[in-house]
Amino acid sequence: MSLRFHNQLTKRVDDFTPQQAGAVSLYTCGPTVYNHLHVGNWAAYVYWDTLVRVLTANDLTVTRVMNITDVGHLVSDGDDGEDKLEKGARREGKTAWEVAEYYTDDFLLGMERLNLLAPEYLSKATDYIDEQLALVRRLKEKGFTYQIGDGIYFDTARFPTYDDFAGLHLDAQKAGARVEFNPEKRQASDFALWKFTPADESRDMQWLTPSDLTDDGSEPYGFPGWHLECSAMAMSLLGETIDIHTGGIDHIPVHHTNEIAQSEAATGKPFAHFWLHNNHLKVNGTKISKSLDNGYTLDDLIEKGFSPLDVRLLLLQSHYRSEGNFTFDNLTAAKNRRHNWRNVAALRHQLRDQTPPTEDESTDNLTVALHTATHALVETLSDDLNTPETFKLIDEVFRQLTSHIPTEAHQPALQSFLKTVDALLGLALIDSTPDISDELRQRIIQRQQARDAKDWAASDRLRHELEESGVLIRDTADGTIWEYAA
Ligand code: AMP
Ligand code: ZN
Repeated sequence: MSLRFHNQLTKRVDDFTPQQAGAVSLYTCGPTVYNHLHVGNWAAYVYWDTLVRVLTANDLTVTRVMNITDVGHLVSDGDDGEDKLEKGARREGKTAWEVAEYYTDDFLLGMERLNLLAPEYLSKATDYIDEQLALVRRLKEKGFTYQIGDGIYFDTARFPTYDDFAGLHLDAQKAGARVEFNPEKRQASDFALWKFTPADESRDMQWLTPSDLTDDGSEPYGFPGWHLECSAMAMSLLGETIDIHTGGIDHIPVHHTNEIAQSEAATGKPFAHFWLHNNHLKVNGTKISKSLDNGYTLDDLIEKGFSPLDVRLLLLQSHYRSEGNFTFDNLTAAKNRRHNWRNVAALRHQLRDQTPPTEDESTDNLTVALHTATHALVETLSDDLNTPETFKLIDEVFRQLTSHIPTEAHQPALQSFLKTVDALLGLALIDSTPDISDELRQRIIQRQQARDAKDWAASDRLRHELEESGVLIRDTADGTIWEYAA
């Protein structure tokens, strides 16, 4: 099986081979924990979860680091504006530490609700201050830094390939776009590695700057830049060159460009071999923004009667590199699709008896279709995470299952197909489709007997009782099938 991903380094889809046979190091830029995540933020984590799942399905052992940005991410994404955490603290009348803890827990709960796999390392930026300072020191020793009034900066002129990653002339672009940039900086694209706490500001989160890092040997309080955090944590936990780094497309021109510059300047080695970016999700065809109040959180959607797994299914229907669109119509359609899929998965509890065995069922059409689709799922996702295509494959197999109710002989192939769907798409089809109780099963048989005896009153009453217990009855040429009411 070959894996291929779109790589921002080369701007094309490249074959993927890890540095070390059988193992992949993966870094995912994680959330800034100052607010609830909205459905657009979650999209990224659903896609990168799928990446882990498909690497694993290709027999690779994944070691993933996801950071928790709990300090240093400024409102501008650059070097200006307030720290998002300190701002959150003022908004909520708490300390930045309390805000970080609250929204980190909220993020972890959301991950569970969306059935996202836990990364091997969930690293908080505030736990890696020493590693970040060590990286600044390394850059200073190599002459890549300079100090100005508000902090220690990276000199992008000393890193000649700075513009290559984004494929833009960033300096021209930024200097034009951002009229006001700190005039002390040598170039508009230079960025803060470490900022000093302004004299007139009190911060909850700050650390002494070691005297060997400042020009005059002073030790002012300061805090790390957001870009520095990711480089330091990725390199500390995964090594100086990692296999894959992921993030949102908005990370390309600043955050990831800066991560590459400072990491590669420090080590002289490539920082990551593959860079994958997810496109943004729109809501009703427009950008998610505070002013439109359209950044729905998981709680908002749960309150409206949707399961987080409906949200997950909706997101996976779009390719990670295309611009998805969230609407309540789409979410309702996703909910219905998941409901239908669950009812197909429930067929494994009600297989037809295999009498008489008409053919060798191990090679019959349905078994072949299930085996073929099981392989095709892994292959399709291995091709740059083509999730939309997997939905077509699943719908096609499920259509065959509903028109030709499976028998005991199909059970192994059906089980392995469902397991593969769950392993790759994380929709918990097996776990969310328990068998019904013996009592309900008995009632289905009684209803069938009443029907055979043309006792319509009893048959209707039993159907109604089953419905009240959440089980619907459908009569087919292959016999009676039960389904979940909701
Ligand atoms: P923000 O809180 O806006 O800084 O967003 C945090 C991260 O979520 C960003 O780095 C983006 O990559 C991602 N993100 C924000 N908005 C969207 C969106 N509409 N769709 C997908 N990802 C998004
Ligand atoms: Zn990052």
